[in-house]
Amino acid sequence: MTTDCIFCKILRKEIPSAKIFENDKFYAFLDISPVNFGHAIIITKEHTETMITAKSSILREIMPVAKKIAIAIMKYHKADGFNLCINNCKAAGQLVPHLHIHIIPRFEADSVTIDKQKTKRYLPGEMEKLAVKIKEVVDSV
Ligand code: 5GP
Ligand code: ZN
Repeated sequence: MTTDCIFCKILRKEIPSAKIFENDKFYAFLDISPVNFGHAIIITKEHTETMITAKSSILREIMPVAKKIAIAIMKYHKADGFNLCINNCKAAGQLVPHLHIHIIPRFEADSVTIDKQKTKRYLPGEMEKLAVKIKEVVDSV
C-alpha cells in the first residue's frame, strides 16, 4: 500500500466505498462516476500500478473474480453485455495508478461511450444501496 494512492486509501477504509466483493487478494466496489449505473472496479489488495508491474499470478487470479462480478452485474441489471477494461498508464486514460479492472454493464442501443466526460451521477446514498443489492448477487454466483 502507498500513502497517497486513492485506492490504497479505500483499502485502508480512509475513503468510504460501496463494496461488492472482497477476498484475500482483491476488493471490488462501485465506481463513483459510472459510465452506466452498476459500473464496478476490481482492485488488487497489493499496490501495483499497471498490468506490466503486476505479478502474472495476480493477472491469472483476477480474471475469475472479474467473471464472477460480471455474471452478477449482468444478472442484477438484466444487462445485454458488459465491457471489461484496464487502462494502463496516463496516456491510456489511467487516472488512478493502482491496477484495476472496470466492469461496465451495457444495454442494447444504450449509446454509451466509454468517456470520462460523460459519466452518470448517483443520487446521495443510491450507490451504497445498489452495492448492497449487487453484493447479494455476487455472493450467490
Ligand atoms: P482509471 O481512469 O484510472 O482507469 O479509472 C479510475 C476510476 O476510479 C474512475 O472511473 C473514477 O471514477 C474512479 N474513482 C476515482 N476515485 C474514486 C473514489 O474515491 N471512489 C470510487 N468509488 N471511485 C473512484
Ligand atoms: Zn494503491
